[in-house]
Amino acid sequence: MTAQNAMSNSSTDDLIKKQKQYLWPCVAPYYGKPLVLERGEGMHVWDADGNRYLDCFGGVLTVSVGHARPEVVDAISRQAAALSHTSTLYVSRPQVDLAEKIAQITPGSLGKSFFTNSGTEADETAMVLARIYTGNSEIIALRHAYHGRSILAMAATGHAPWKHAPSAVPGIVHAHAPYCYRCPFNLKPDSCALECARDVEELIQTSTSGKVAAFIAEPILGVGGFITPPKEYFKVVTDIVRRYGGIFICDEVQTGWGRTGDHMCGIEHWEVEPEVMTFAKGMANGAPVGCTTAIPEIADKFPSLTFSTFGGNPVTCAASLATIRVIEENDLPANARVVGDYLRARLEELKEKYPVIGDVRGMGLMQAIECVKDRETKEPDPQSVLRVFEETRKRGVLIGKGGLYGNVIRLGPPLVAARSDIDELATALDGAFAALA
Ligand code: PMP
Repeated sequence: MTAQNAMSNSSTDDLIKKQKQYLWPCVAPYYGKPLVLERGEGMHVWDADGNRYLDCFGGVLTVSVGHARPEVVDAISRQAAALSHTSTLYVSRPQVDLAEKIAQITPGSLGKSFFTNSGTEADETAMVLARIYTGNSEIIALRHAYHGRSILAMAATGHAPWKHAPSAVPGIVHAHAPYCYRCPFNLKPDSCALECARDVEELIQTSTSGKVAAFIAEPILGVGGFITPPKEYFKVVTDIVRRYGGIFICDEVQTGWGRTGDHMCGIEHWEVEPEVMTFAKGMANGAPVGCTTAIPEIADKFPSLTFSTFGGNPVTCAASLATIRVIEENDLPANARVVGDYLRARLEELKEKYPVIGDVRGMGLMQAIECVKDRETKEPDPQSVLRVFEETRKRGVLIGKGGLYGNVIRLGPPLVAARSDIDELATALDGAFAALA
């Protein structure tokens, strides 16, 4: 170890110690020994000791066009130098331009946006809007879903570990997730009649007043472990929900901006048009943004007064406009499909080789591996995931995890990923799974 490395190791240890001392323990970093990141460029990040890693999680599917992407850096610095804050009490060009762009990109007649700072706020705003518009209060969410950390968003979340006692909000019921690998009806996806979707009708009839405000769902359940619903799922559910007075809030926080391949919005694969959509994460390549987009007739029902100091901030909106421009100009949704299909094929090969891999699923550059102790019983194996984490880190690759049982490896590299990056990821995973034995 060089003298310089020894010095930076001790400052790294000091930083980790201070993190424990000064931050709440719920701010819990990955890895036995947390990783201190200092710099990023494209597909890579560097730690405080100068080690380079291939980033295959992008800060939870957020670094969409690569670290320190020059066009985004440039847009941020130019806007920060010109005007970095106005509040929504004044008109600012970046906010208007971004809202116009979103109206052009989103499907159907979605056309008016409200900006905030996070996915949580975007979902919270959407649920309040649905209640105002419909006059109904009950909301259907999905088991295994994640919608954020405010009280209403936690209430809509379908994961005990992410919910805390005060989130027991009345009026939110959870439907079965379209989790084919662990089908709640014990059926097979190729021969079922979408019982999970059809059950939403009985859920409304038995567990609500019979009138609902909204169905909120992610096209692919992200934190839930990239649970990917069958093709007809959303058509069946939205049909039912609309018959009972509700609208569809599509949470595109993870699936938006080309992540799932070919389309800008994940829900386009299911061919339904939501009344409201929410965005965050990959929309501004890491600048904090939240957006709730609605069809005008619904958006117009949100009464004054409401306000978000930082919502629509000119710097974040400029970052978002630059990010979207890079996505469009480089056709990154197409890249996500091509490179994502390649990633999927490499993961299927690993599944053939390692019995601990029970399922591989996802779309585009949003692919997951579910680990089990036994393929027959499907008993979750979170320990193997933790070990694969440490092993891939040793091999210079960063990955993510999720799933209710913590047994799902989540892969969400920046949308600029190339086949060579996927080869490096697959080799690291291969080595890591081999090391488990
Ligand atoms: N919705 C989904 C689908 C998410 O994955 C997340 C964050 N993981 C959120 C909402 C909340 O976003 P934020 O952390 O920006 O509040």
